[in-house]
Amino acid sequence: MEYPHQPVLVQEVLDSLLTARDGLYVDGTVGTGGHSEKIAMLTGRKARLICLDRDPEAIDISRQRLASFKNKVTFVQQSYAALDRVLSDLSIERVHGILLDLGVSSYQLEHCGRGFSFNRDEPLDMRMDPRDKVTARQLVNRLGRKELEDIIRRYGEERRARRIAKAIENTRKRGPISSSVQLANLIRSIVPRSHGPGAKDPATRTFQALRIAVNRELENLESFLSKCPELLLKGGRLVILTYHSLEDRMVKKAMVDWERGCTCPPDLPVCKCGKAPLFRRLSRKGIKPSREEIEKNPRARSAMLRAAERI
Ligand code: SAH
Repeated sequence: MEYPHQPVLVQEVLDSLLTARDGLYVDGTVGTGGHSEKIAMLTGRKARLICLDRDPEAIDISRQRLASFKNKVTFVQQSYAALDRVLSDLSIERVHGILLDLGVSSYQLEHCGRGFSFNRDEPLDMRMDPRDKVTARQLVNRLGRKELEDIIRRYGEERRARRIAKAIENTRKRGPISSSVQLANLIRSIVPRSHGPGAKDPATRTFQALRIAVNRELENLESFLSKCPELLLKGGRLVILTYHSLEDRMVKKAMVDWERGCTCPPDLPVCKCGKAPLFRRLSRKGIKPSREEIEKNPRARSAMLRAAERI
């Protein structure tokens, strides 16, 4: 079968993540299983791989894709923010490596019919986990103008958030905004299209913002980062791929703080807190895909890989 999603920075992920042939690994965002298939192929018979995704369709697809490795792979439909609970249910305390490849998969954008993309007319849903209560349609039609504006500005880094929120407020008076194309056209009618290479559709940032809000993506990442040091063995690796600056800033800050250890104010001449470093960063700047990779795989365009080793 052809999988619509091409995994990003595959070799770099494997090089950063795998330290023990028969180790215990977690893919916290298995998607359509591109990275996990490679992890399963490159690890030994006694290795174990635990695959999580919030999206039940992603779990179904990767379960089929990884069927030949079923003796060593376990699938759980759960948020990676609940990884501590998932591991304790499996009687596992700590693992050798955790991978997170954040954001949406090409499968979700192109095939799942839940309104992640504005290129096809779909209901405005955007829930990764259909058990969640709040949809993008509810946010767009029910939130106050100011709240909408804040979401679009903060999560979409959209300068025209105010105008977009106002236009939504005016339009919904005449009836609910219920489809992806309806919303995209509304945004396109007030945000001018930029030109030149790499120019994005004017609706991109607002769609990103709604998706982040519906799925509470930053809250999940924050919660995971606060638990992560407890979940890795000494020498174990954390590898995170991010696709926008909000997430990347959070990951970078967590890794810098872990590496520093000490939390005393910088003007204190000697350390009083006595906190030891928890991680060593594998590279200070992070890793970005090459131009060749971006040409072949547009999803790689904004990717940033950061990795750190538990000490
Ligand atoms: N590495 C995968 C692609 C991952 S795409 C591959 O090679 O195929 C990102 C995936 O993360 C999506 O399937 C999405 O449903 C999932 N996801 C997003 N937030 C999540 C969360 N909090 N917990 C678990 N999965 C999440």
